[in-house]
Amino acid sequence: MLQLAQRMGRAKPSAIMVIAEKAKALKASGRDVISFSIGVPNFLPGPHVYEAVRKALEHDSGQYGSNRGSNELLDAFLKHLQQAGFSGYARENLSTGVGAKHVLYNLAEALLDEGDEIAFPTPYWTSYMDIAEIVGARVKLLPCPPTQGYKLTPQQLDAALTPSTRVFLFNNPSNPTGMVYTRAEIAALAEVLVRKPDTWIITDDIYHRMVFDGLGYHNFVHLRPELTERTIFVDSLSKTYGMPGWRVGFMAGPKAVATAVTTLNSNHITNLPEIVTAAAVAALTGPQDVTARECADFTRRRDRVHAALSAIPGVSCPRPQGAFYAFPDISAFFGKRCGDQVIADDVAFCAALLEHQGVACVPGSAFGEPRALRISYTCPAAQLEPGLQRIAAFCAALV
Ligand code: PMP
Repeated sequence: MLQLAQRMGRAKPSAIMVIAEKAKALKASGRDVISFSIGVPNFLPGPHVYEAVRKALEHDSGQYGSNRGSNELLDAFLKHLQQAGFSGYARENLSTGVGAKHVLYNLAEALLDEGDEIAFPTPYWTSYMDIAEIVGARVKLLPCPPTQGYKLTPQQLDAALTPSTRVFLFNNPSNPTGMVYTRAEIAALAEVLVRKPDTWIITDDIYHRMVFDGLGYHNFVHLRPELTERTIFVDSLSKTYGMPGWRVGFMAGPKAVATAVTTLNSNHITNLPEIVTAAAVAALTGPQDVTARECADFTRRRDRVHAALSAIPGVSCPRPQGAFYAFPDISAFFGKRCGDQVIADDVAFCAALLEHQGVACVPGSAFGEPRALRISYTCPAAQLEPGLQRIAAFCAALV
């Protein structure tokens, strides 16, 4: 029998997509389901984006475009970078991809040979593990339990990174925890990183505009500019501009890395479509008030979600300060019963919650933290309170 490549034995569908699909199917079959599963923003881009697409349709030549991204798009991203506190980049420092997920995959191919070590904190965004496994990298996990607020300490980082760690992958604000590192925390981690010259640094900061409580966004290179020569900043239009399905991601970093990603593009995708590029340029250069408005809305939602979860006996939830996720520890319920079902772990908890209360959440094990589950609080506003009430009722019924 003909076999698939060995690599496919390591590849699996994204756990988040699996839950989201299950919730969708239940809904389609007539069940009343509230989905806290997938991280989709609950807003659309402004009318200027659709106007730009209409205009582009009139001029679309239908020809192949640039492997790196059109000059107009790269210039728009350069402006966006400046607004986020980055300077000194030119077009050659940039490249694009079909979403940040694709950019991250390209970076893994560009920086990691089979057997090379990549280190990242847990909880981690699911695809980090999947991408690392597909390219055959060795993963070193840096556990950040709820007791340390799901955050990495400088001591941990120092102990973990060795000269054979090729890549350190860092995500701030965090999916799944919603944690945001303060300026002082980033500065302390950056101090460690300057002493690790053999390690590339990838900062996946696609939620950097979604920071609450006046905390601000900080990157290692803001505090130690000498790290610029081995740091790659990854960004995306998906969350900030309410454009997840448009599939636009970016990177900014050393020229050699940007060129490597561009070379992979030339073999994988050739270019981002012209229509998508027009939408991306309009989003990046047009009015930026949508994100600020949404951020205010997410702050209110975060307050509600955090208060409601913290009021459930047995649940503890470090207070999120960015993105749109909460990551409560639900391990106190493991071993309890729901009818004749035993809640053995996070997967059983989420399955029973969906079955009995029609609420879809993602088990924490999908993010390397099996004591927790992830709530994405971007559902329609009218579903937020009922969803939280159902989780409370579910927990109260466990014996
Ligand atoms: N990084 C993180 C931390 C994410 O949460 C996501 C999307 N869930 C991505 C990258 C990928 O985003 P995109 O839609 O641009 O592929």
